[in-house]
Amino acid sequence: MDDRAKLSVDRLIAELKTLALISEADPPVVTRIVYSEADMRARAYVKGLCIEAGLTVHEDTIGNTFVRWEGADPQLAPVGTGSHIDAIPNAGMYDGCVGVLGGLEAIRVLMQLGFKPRRSIELVIFTAEEPTRFGIGCLGSRMMANVLTPSRARGLRDKEGRGLEELRGAAGFEGPLESVALPVGRFHQFVELHIEQGPRLEEENIDVGLVTHIAAPASLRIVIEGEGGHAGGKLMPGRKDALTAAAELILAFETAAQSTGSTDTVATVGVCEVFPGAVNSIPSRVRLETDIRDTNGDRRDGVLDVLRAACIKTAARRSVTIDTELVNADPPVACDPAILAAMEAAAREAGKSYKKLVSRAYHDSLFMANIAPVAMLFIPCRGGISHRPDEYASPEWIGAGVHVLARTLASLAS
Ligand SMILES: [Zn+2]
Repeated sequence: MDDRAKLSVDRLIAELKTLALISEADPPVVTRIVYSEADMRARAYVKGLCIEAGLTVHEDTIGNTFVRWEGADPQLAPVGTGSHIDAIPNAGMYDGCVGVLGGLEAIRVLMQLGFKPRRSIELVIFTAEEPTRFGIGCLGSRMMANVLTPSRARGLRDKEGRGLEELRGAAGFEGPLESVALPVGRFHQFVELHIEQGPRLEEENIDVGLVTHIAAPASLRIVIEGEGGHAGGKLMPGRKDALTAAAELILAFETAAQSTGSTDTVATVGVCEVFPGAVNSIPSRVRLETDIRDTNGDRRDGVLDVLRAACIKTAARRSVTIDTELVNADPPVACDPAILAAMEAAAREAGKSYKKLVSRAYHDSLFMANIAPVAMLFIPCRGGISHRPDEYASPEWIGAGVHVLARTLASLAS
């Protein structure tokens, strides 16, 4: 397959740039919140390109979009690829969009080459990968995999208090939420092309990353109740300072993550809210929001167990009360060996350098893994920078990624 001649990187870059101009902010800033006017225009633009390419477009009741290239045997479960086109405020133009428009370009390349897939190939554009509006990431794929149930989805609200039901209706998506969930086997396999959002591929001058594991976050909320009082009047003996108790827990959390023996374990306390928050007042209450990620679920949950045990000890020693609440704990994913093998062969045949790595950020593929074997294909991004207007992937990097994706899809759909 000599697709070098057919792969139109220029066309793809031009489309990425056009898509980037569909934004709630002035260029080069990309902001596309789900169901906003910009999101709807961006969807219309991408759907138009797909229809122009001769593909059929179908949407579910929250706007997840399925673009189908019918295979020779339409009864077989399709091979899926795709990503998202929503963008957080003040973002760049490659996160997600490379996987959507790059997936489309891969399909167009194969069409132009006269390739006839046995299995259908479906490009998926997921609704609301970013958590901006509803505070929950990967809304579309979570609901597709039924990890987020319709009843919980109905309770989602944005900052203005508007619900998913109201907002999707206003965007023209109607019908029961129950129809979004897809059965296991709906997709034969799913592969997502994405920018790395980390520096490794660029630093090592490698064309593509084959993602073997997708790390998943867990989040524990910790509320410590101590006893307030005057910073001068209350002497040190007998204090029940909620913040010094929090300090012990933060350090215990860090130590536990450092002690797993794997650099894949990362732990962060990103929120420490102190009440009453006055310089001359002993902190009476502290709320901590913790985030821990790992490619190994047991190892990650082991750190949470250490943290919970530290909470019990600290509460007893410092005479404070500590409540913990598990906010979320999605299981990490091991990528499918068959897709990895296909990607590896594709990279070799395409003459592209590759390396196996783990994804430390999570993506729609994490949730798709509940209903299909998945893997991800990474391309470098400059400086590892993402979620900023200066996010950048070169045409060469994008071209290499699409080339490998096209060969992978061809192999999986044969
Ligand atoms: Zn993304």
